[in-house]
Amino acid sequence: MMSNLNQAITVLRGIGEETAESFAEMKIFTIQDLLEYFPYRYDDYSLKDLTEVKHEEKVTVEGKVHSEPSLVYYGRKKSKLSIRLFVGAYLIKVVFFNQAYLKNKIMINETITVTGKWDAHRQTITANEMQIGQNKKTTDFEPVYALRGKITTKGMRKFIHLAFEQFGHLIEETLPISFLKKYRLLNKSAAIKIMHFPNSPDEVKQARRRFVYEEFLVFQLKMQALRKFEREHSPGINQNYDKSKVMNFIEGLPFPLTNAQDRVVNEVLVELKSPFRMNRLLQGDVGSGKTVVAAIGLYASVTAGYQGALMVPTEILAEQHAESLISLLASFGVNCQLLTSSVKGKRRREILQDLAEGKVDILIGTHALIQDEVTFKKLGFVITDEQHRFGVEQRRVLREKGENPDVLFMTATPIPRTLAITVFGEMDVSIIDEMPAGRKSIETYWAKPEMLERVLAFVEKELVKGHQAYVICPLIEESEKLDVQNAIDVHTTLSHFFQNRYKVGLMHGRLSSEEKDNVMKAFSSNEVQVLVSTTVVEVGVNVPNATMMVIYDAERFGLSQLHQLRGRVGRGSDQSYCILLASPKSEVGQERMRIMTETNDGFVLSEKDLELRGPGDFFGKKQSGVPIFKVADMVHDYRALETARSDAAMLIQSETFWKDTEFHYLRMQLEQSGVMEGEKLD
Ligand code: ADP
Ligand code: MG
Repeated sequence: MMSNLNQAITVLRGIGEETAESFAEMKIFTIQDLLEYFPYRYDDYSLKDLTEVKHEEKVTVEGKVHSEPSLVYYGRKKSKLSIRLFVGAYLIKVVFFNQAYLKNKIMINETITVTGKWDAHRQTITANEMQIGQNKKTTDFEPVYALRGKITTKGMRKFIHLAFEQFGHLIEETLPISFLKKYRLLNKSAAIKIMHFPNSPDEVKQARRRFVYEEFLVFQLKMQALRKFEREHSPGINQNYDKSKVMNFIEGLPFPLTNAQDRVVNEVLVELKSPFRMNRLLQGDVGSGKTVVAAIGLYASVTAGYQGALMVPTEILAEQHAESLISLLASFGVNCQLLTSSVKGKRRREILQDLAEGKVDILIGTHALIQDEVTFKKLGFVITDEQHRFGVEQRRVLREKGENPDVLFMTATPIPRTLAITVFGEMDVSIIDEMPAGRKSIETYWAKPEMLERVLAFVEKELVKGHQAYVICPLIEESEKLDVQNAIDVHTTLSHFFQNRYKVGLMHGRLSSEEKDNVMKAFSSNEVQVLVSTTVVEVGVNVPNATMMVIYDAERFGLSQLHQLRGRVGRGSDQSYCILLASPKSEVGQERMRIMTETNDGFVLSEKDLELRGPGDFFGKKQSGVPIFKVADMVHDYRALETARSDAAMLIQSETFWKDTEFHYLRMQLEQSGVMEGEKLD
């Protein structure tokens, strides 16, 4: 008989075909799968002293019924049953919703045990479980599994128990012993056992700690191996840029670089010159001055005899970037051209030909840039802006555009460090964490929708001064059509309100790109003073005369997105304002509004956003690229993540890692994942 953990679970007594099918739904096929199918939470039924229980925490108490149950019906089939319960020295209230039948079971002066949520302010437990008499739970601390099919909690426990008895001795250690010692981690077998049969929350914490570290370590090893592979297998170009020309250019800028820009420019230049290929992420808040950094890098590459490309997600943004780059670089004899789908016919052919002949130095455009018809003579440096909008796939296409160009990704969405080192772990990261001097922070207010009239009066005050305003309409997750309808409605309302005084424009995703362009141009040139828009306006648009931003239903947006939207104002020298119209019901929603009014720091906001929304949702619409961990939680376990990352970096560089048997299992994981051949992680 085979004696290993890879046997089908049907070797266990009591698991027949039908049960196996239910297990299959849970992706449990082998003994190992079963042993490593961990509970997703634990219910604590141990009796607690109420003075030690926090507000809203779950609690189990035993007490004596002090009053007749009182039952109230409301609505159809809805009821509330309340009693008074003596728990030790306290007389508390217990309520049961929609469990009217308990009225006849609960007797005055009897002992009962209830489990539920503790409201410390009202001294009330909202109960969801009740036992007559004393606490009869066999374990105080009960694992809760995500179950499917016919499997019950009891069954699950039984089978895991069986699996342990028969196969527990076969569980092999997968972490290096020296690491277990160093971090005082439980060995694998013990940790698995505790995950399923814990005696206390503390034990679970210890067991979890081990798996969290292991998951992060394996993941980071893959990232680091990939990075190493890319370095060794894609030699870059040694761009020998003209240092004095570049210095001249920097000195000729209309402003001195901030310290952060200076540092990042250096990081970029050093890497352009090095024989390794650049694969770098540049993060900097909206308005922190990334474009100048891009211009310096591109210029340096041009002085080294190469061409550059700047790729952005929208046409509007492409035009704006082209404008900035031309104004910065034209006087230095650099030929910058714009290529989008609007550039057609003869002009397009000319640009493409000049590009192939090397007459165009820098090409700016949308993803039109990475299409087949576009050939460079000597592409040396590629920059993408707002890179998180390009999927993992587009990043790959860009890399494979060939000729080993250096690649810099820029993003204005500050990414919390934990996410940056997991999602972009194979890249180097540069951060501009400082705003140009003299920038005023945007004053942000949170107003209730009922205050709309006052808000509009405030908007008008800015308009009277000759400024302009954005009005952003609600985001409706289910439907773009509804988004558009909303924008149209708000546009109608505001057109009436500002009638004969100011012009109100309308922008949304259903407009053709030509229509969008026309609206944007009218707003840029101040023919339109108020722009009502859906979130299409989010990325990169630059109208410094706009000093007012109103966001309808602001509670529907995540913090990062609100911050991005807000970044459309505050681009000139005048004080700007942002008003969030919202009446969030949840505490999280209220918290978000408060944070927005309190800080303008994108990094602070992004950390908060990650905390409130969770990693999977961080980039909006559940974007791919965020790894899913079984036990670990990127937000709460970030210290372990940092530790695992530096351990992984150290291991990948060390010789012993590639030889010693201690690391055999970790090496195997790398080999199986394909990263050693440069395959991307999914
Ligand atoms: P972003 O990082 O959002 O792309 P930009 O590069 O568009 O920011 O810069 C925003 C504005 O700040 C631009 O008008 C730019 O000219 C200006 N700017 C950039 N760097 C500096 C600086 N060091 N000092 C003053 N103004 C600067
Ligand atoms: Mg920018």
